[in-house]
Amino acid sequence: MRIMDVEVLHLRMDTIRDEANGTQDAAIIRVHTDAGLIGLGEADSSPHVVKAIIDAPRSHSIMAGIRELIVGEDPLLVRRLWQKMYDGTLYFGRRGAALHAISGVDIALWDLAGKALGQPVHTLLGGAVRKQIRAYASALFAPTPAETAEKARRYLELGFTAMKFGWGNFGQDAERDIAQIRAIRDTVGPRVDVMVDAGTCWDAATAAVMARRLAELDVFWLEEPLHPDDLAGYALLTAISPIRIAAGEEDASVYAFEELIERGGVAVVQPDVSRAGGLTESLRIAELAHRRGRNCVPHNFSTGILTAASLHLNAVIPRAIFQEFPAPGEGSPLNVDLVTPRFDVRDGYLSIPTAPGLGVVLAPEVVQRYQVE
Ligand code: MG
Repeated sequence: MRIMDVEVLHLRMDTIRDEANGTQDAAIIRVHTDAGLIGLGEADSSPHVVKAIIDAPRSHSIMAGIRELIVGEDPLLVRRLWQKMYDGTLYFGRRGAALHAISGVDIALWDLAGKALGQPVHTLLGGAVRKQIRAYASALFAPTPAETAEKARRYLELGFTAMKFGWGNFGQDAERDIAQIRAIRDTVGPRVDVMVDAGTCWDAATAAVMARRLAELDVFWLEEPLHPDDLAGYALLTAISPIRIAAGEEDASVYAFEELIERGGVAVVQPDVSRAGGLTESLRIAELAHRRGRNCVPHNFSTGILTAASLHLNAVIPRAIFQEFPAPGEGSPLNVDLVTPRFDVRDGYLSIPTAPGLGVVLAPEVVQRYQVE
């Protein structure tokens, strides 16, 4: 079997709103083969930039776009192809957009391998150690504590035993921030795990004060209180925070996560499989986190392709604790409707897909409705 083409489907809703939650456009990757099999992946990044990195012609004799690097290759040699893509984009890659594009292709290659061999991706990754994973409902703060509490009540009724709120107006008024979390805690009671995503809003000193206040409300983790480049700030904060500090959704490559752990000291790393380097690199990141005694909780806030890929990762990693899942009512049609079958949270858990490959297929009518190139 040989790779014939790498295709980027750019999907985009009519309006990408100011309060966009990140599920309103998508770069979907399809790897085509001479056997007629197609691998499905996603890069959660700017679709225009991802497309450029896939399409770019050769430059500097050793640098090339990803299509040129892998067309003609055997798609089953996934780790070999990962290294070829990484080395072939060295000047403009190693982090950021090139890793995002590699992520999308890597996910598609694993999907393809699973389809070719009739196995779910988690089996090819070494074997699932769990059949389900606890999901946390991931949501934006509503404008007021009462409205946020109403969201929390709904997730509780849907069976979630863990939930995270973030962004919105958080970080602008400390007393309102605390009132938001207190309203959630009062609504869900003491046994639900509550996480807070500060959306990079503070400096280390402010975050340290807030972490102490959030600890009184038994917050499970405080996510991204600082800018992702402020590793010195993370080091100060993690040394004194009474609660776990989580970060990493903007980072790509195991080297970046090594820095986040070794220098930043974070307790929970959050690689996004569609940005950090695909399943191949996310597995390395998860294994590094495990060796350092940290939790790896895959970031997931895009389409169902990313949800499926994240579940296959979570199926095989040691000591997995959660899968992020966009809360019902939070995601756009691209988040909810792009793939079938739909994901179903039962008693707070998501099942790991068992069909060959990722175990999801595109819904053609949704692609047709939102495809712009
Ligand atoms: Mg986040």
